[in-house]
Amino acid sequence: MTITTATTTGPALDTVHLLPQTRQLRALHTIIRDRHADPERFVTTSGRIIRQLVETALDLLPYEPFDVQTPVGRTYHGLRPATRICGVSVLRAGESMEHELRAMSPGVRIGKILIQRDKVTKLPRLYYSALPADIDRRSVLLLDPMLATGGTALAAIEVLLGHGVAVDDIVFVTLLAAPEGIDAVHARHPNLRIVTSAIEERLNENAYMIPGIGDFGDRYFGTDITR
Ligand code: URA
Repeated sequence: MTITTATTTGPALDTVHLLPQTRQLRALHTIIRDRHADPERFVTTSGRIIRQLVETALDLLPYEPFDVQTPVGRTYHGLRPATRICGVSVLRAGESMEHELRAMSPGVRIGKILIQRDKVTKLPRLYYSALPADIDRRSVLLLDPMLATGGTALAAIEVLLGHGVAVDDIVFVTLLAAPEGIDAVHARHPNLRIVTSAIEERLNENAYMIPGIGDFGDRYFGTDITR
């Protein structure tokens, strides 16, 4: 597993981009990992981390030279994105990442994929997808805050490949990643880029990450609250 910290952007296909483990980021993680975090704080704080993840993912996409004239009459030799972007959220937890992507890239296309584990076969099964028709000509940010076993991620990647997206045009954006999930994804797609804010110790016997965060979707959408 090749890990680059996001500030030392290496060659384009360095595979795992771990956000710099700053004290501020650790403080944000401390809030959302606390089992007593109230739902509002969980949403706003995870949003702050997701914003950093999306910024980092956008930095991995291609840029081209673009000059502008400054108000003092000089040329600034800048850059602009060289490809169009599409976010694809893996339902339901991935929807939590759409808002931050939209805030940074207004008008961005957003596709959706719903994959669930089949109760009988235990294999991930595609239930629904809605993707832009020109997705094969876009850079894709695949959004799922939890990379645990890698089964859902692999199934979602297959959906994208089936729509003509190249692996090198996909960046998988995830808040927490288990080593097992990273290895499973890279066993099939060694070049697939992953941006994450934490790499966990491992999975427990129920495929939850530890130390982890619990069920992200339940906590984000408040469906774990019985009060
Ligand atoms: N999904 C979650 O929400 N949490 C985990 O720890 C693993 C998968």
